[in-house]
Amino acid sequence: MEIIIIPVPTVEPETQAVVQNSPTLESFHVPPGVGRALIAAGVARQVMPVVTKPTPQTRWRPLRAEGGMYPPALHHSCSSCGMNGTTESQRGTAHISARFCHCGVVDTCPEDVAELYLALYREWESNLPKNKNRR
Ligand SMILES: [Zn+2]
Repeated sequence: MEIIIIPVPTVEPETQAVVQNSPTLESFHVPPGVGRALIAAGVARQVMPVVTKPTPQTRWRPLRAEGGMYPPALHHSCSSCGMNGTTESQRGTAHISARFCHCGVVDTCPEDVAELYLALYREWESNLPKNKNRR
C-alpha cells in the first residue's frame, strides 16, 4: 500500500499534513513529523495539494414583498455552499447592485431574472399611492 503525503497550506504550514491512502483516496490529517517519518521510511511520497473548489450552484429569483408596502427584492442562494441573501432597492436597481460572493466567485444577477425583477418592480411602482419618489 502506498501512502501519499499532501502538505496543507496554512498560516502555520508545519502544524499538520494530509495523508492520503492511494487505493481508496481517503485523506486524513497527521502531524508533519509522522508524515516525514513515513516519507523517510519509503512508504509515502510528498505531492502538491489538490485544491478542490466547490462548483457554484447559484439560483436567483425575484421576491414580491407582502402587502405592497415594500418594493420587490432579489433573492440569491447557492446549493453548493448553502449561502443565501436578499438584495433590496427602493429605486428598482437591485438587479444591478446585487453581488453574491460565495464559492470563491462573485455572481451577478442573470438577465432573465433581472427582467422578471424589473417587471415586478414596475408593477409595484404603478400600484403606489401618490407619495412615491421617497428617496
Ligand atoms: Zn456557493
